[in-house]
Amino acid sequence: MNSVDYLRISLIDRCNFRCQYCVPEGAKLEYLTSPEQLQNHELLTLLAHVFIPLGFGKFRLTGGEPLLRPNLVDLVRAIAQLPGVEDLSMTTNAYLLADLAQDLHDAGLNRLNISLDSLNPDTFDRIIGNQGKSRWPKTWAGIQAAHRVGFEPLKLNVVVIPGVNDQEVLDLAALTGDRHWHVRFIEFMPIGNGDLFQERAWIPSAELRQRIREKWGLETAQVQGNGPADVFKIPGAKGTLGFISQMSECFCDRCNRMRLSADGWLRPCLLNEASQIDLRTLLRTGTDVGEIRAIVGQLLQAKPEINFKMRDVGSTTGQYGRTMSQIGG
Ligand code: SAM
Ligand code: SF4
Repeated sequence: MNSVDYLRISLIDRCNFRCQYCVPEGAKLEYLTSPEQLQNHELLTLLAHVFIPLGFGKFRLTGGEPLLRPNLVDLVRAIAQLPGVEDLSMTTNAYLLADLAQDLHDAGLNRLNISLDSLNPDTFDRIIGNQGKSRWPKTWAGIQAAHRVGFEPLKLNVVVIPGVNDQEVLDLAALTGDRHWHVRFIEFMPIGNGDLFQERAWIPSAELRQRIREKWGLETAQVQGNGPADVFKIPGAKGTLGFISQMSECFCDRCNRMRLSADGWLRPCLLNEASQIDLRTLLRTGTDVGEIRAIVGQLLQAKPEINFKMRDVGSTTGQYGRTMSQIGG
């Protein structure tokens, strides 16, 4: 069991996309009102007096879509300045990034992961559930801006869905040829859209690697902050390829992370709803931060027993109720 030092913080449960693997078609999502969300000062209190003293040093801001959080740059700056923050990163769909990339970089954001499931604007729009003017150009402009202002290594996340975007795996891998980018292929999980999962299933990373190996060859490599990804590169390429294989090679036993939802629920395991605790209510009812730290400390101790196993969830039920945008992906 790794020591748990990594917290994924959902800043907002709303999103401006409806990716088909994340949100089921036609689903009516109930969003939090602004007072229901953890306020900036509450989040900063939890980080400074609960998580950092307990040994957390790596923080990822996510959502929903984190760029929709009002006054985001100020919040990023405040988190980055907390003593004990070693690494502050963000996962975003990049749609609003072109105007924010420089300010986020200046505010102290260290790294960015960007979701990009297709290079084809029609496929991209179909995946994100967009029926109006294509959103691909603005998303690509956001990615270019992140590259320009110096986010390094820039990581692109691709959720591979059979028959939807798997035919683009080679094109997406080719992006690493002349760019120092890290393209990561993620196995589709039975979270969020269980119907699509049942219909399409998922492709094992080993099969994707084989396709890439047949075309160009593949060698092992390293990348900063690789997390659970197995890292490779195409010989001679500037960038690298990551494979996140939580379905075919369940890595739940070495999980080093916890998740904090936008309304302050701390979830020690992505798949286990029963064990979460409501930090917002503890804060708002005046519980002493030392006491909150003790409660979270106990949850940390219990994490190895609490962890579910992705392979069990995938094989027994084939689906899981809540979306990643609600949990905080
Ligand atoms: N909106 C931001 C974005 O899309 O990058 C951040 C939140 S999103 C929930 C975080 C990550 O969860 C994304 O990289 C997305 O691809 C991934 N994700 C969502 N649903 C998934 C699923 N069913 N299987 C695998 N990955 C999923
Ligand atoms: Fe897509 Fe991220 Fe929004 Fe989910 S939260 S719909 S993965 S952009």
